[in-house]
Amino acid sequence: EAFNAAVADAADLNAFIVTTPDHALAAADAADAKRARGEDLGAMGGVPIGMKDLFATKGVQTTAASHILEGFTPEYESTVSQKLWDAGAGMLGKLNLDQFAMGSSNETSYFGNVNSPWRKEGTNAAMSPGGSSGGSSSAVAARIAPAATGTDTGGSIRQPAAFTGICGIKPTYGRCSRWGVVAFASSLDQAGPMARSVEDCAIMLEAMAGFDPKDATSLKLDVPQWEAGLSADLKDKKIGIPKEYRMDGTDEEILKSWEQGKEWLRDAGAEIVDISLPHTKYALPAYYIVAPAEASSNLARYDGVRYGLRDLPDGAGLQDMYAATRAAGFGDEVKRRILIGTYVLSAGFYDAYYTQAQKIRTLVAQDFEKAFGLCDAILAPTTPTASFPLGSLNEDPLTMYLNDVFAVPASLAGLPAMSVPATVNADGLPLGLQIVGKPFDEQGVLNTGLAIQ
Ligand code: GLN
Repeated sequence: EAFNAAVADAADLNAFIVTTPDHALAAADAADAKRARGEDLGAMGGVPIGMKDLFATKGVQTTAASHILEGFTPEYESTVSQKLWDAGAGMLGKLNLDQFAMGSSNETSYFGNVNSPWRKEGTNAAMSPGGSSGGSSSAVAARIAPAATGTDTGGSIRQPAAFTGICGIKPTYGRCSRWGVVAFASSLDQAGPMARSVEDCAIMLEAMAGFDPKDATSLKLDVPQWEAGLSADLKDKKIGIPKEYRMDGTDEEILKSWEQGKEWLRDAGAEIVDISLPHTKYALPAYYIVAPAEASSNLARYDGVRYGLRDLPDGAGLQDMYAATRAAGFGDEVKRRILIGTYVLSAGFYDAYYTQAQKIRTLVAQDFEKAFGLCDAILAPTTPTASFPLGSLNEDPLTMYLNDVFAVPASLAGLPAMSVPATVNADGLPLGLQIVGKPFDEQGVLNTGLAIQ
């Protein structure tokens, strides 16, 4: 009831940057025609979905929620979106996000923040839908779209899913092609589905995944039949509980929700075992070196020559145009990342920062490898807190970065990880639980999620 009232209240979620109703209607018509002919509709025949505006869509503006790409209309379609259209889905529009997917609240978008459809019980303060896939989480939670694409570099599918009471899975690195997805940190970026149920995520992930010769890091593996393999029976499964995830600053209610999650998994037949991931506390600082380093390199291409915005002051030369375009085109958070990334990659500091961060990345991956000798999947909170009011963390980038403290380790290790809605807190806000799986074991992750949802 509180949720319905909140949705009715949400005057403008600002979830979409552009809407493309004709695209969705064409898919619905195509599905109708196939049904009339008695043909198979495809796994997602006629389903209207939202597309995070980080995926290049042919003939439809693609901005990454940045001024620097405003007006950029790709001549090509990303592999993932093409696969979804091939499965019969249609596009409702391009969804708002944190600029270049950098953020945890959807407040860094050039096109304005996204509102969550949720409210704290008894208040009307606009809440964050999480980020960077905040348009996706908001649209799905508000029942505007049954599903949406997201991308996750260090939590951007899982944290917004947790904040809005929906499901979202980041598959193993390499499962979904990155071709045609605006690059943030290429060694971490992964696409994945966000939807209302584990079942819908399984169907959509099957449509999105698959080897792509156009992405050098694409996995040369067949796509398993995840939907057909769904089972909430966890008999003989061991679920690991990492002791290092009981961190200072984590909400009591999140810890309670975690306890509840363990109960549900025991009820489903699983054995709960204690595990240790000793390098967890170094993961976030390492992420905030590796991700900006890669971003500073990836974002060098936005120079006013090839894409979107060009700022050419009177009588200016080439260097002036670069500077003016980038000064006007990038938002503050993007500039902060470029500066950090350039600094940690500079000759004098490379070994002190970047090399160290890469070593930590290896240690974090080894922690998981050892832990998976003792368990089949890991259960942890998705976030240390529930959603927060928009504007409340804006002045404080470090607290904002802490949102992803539980999400980032699986990203550094390239592991499949999912957030599923678990409980609500005293304010009536949803809390998510995270399941991290072995490499390529999306099935184990989905099945554990199914036992919780
Ligand atoms: N919030 C994290 C960041 O700002 C993760 C973003 C993401 O996964 N795209 O970098």
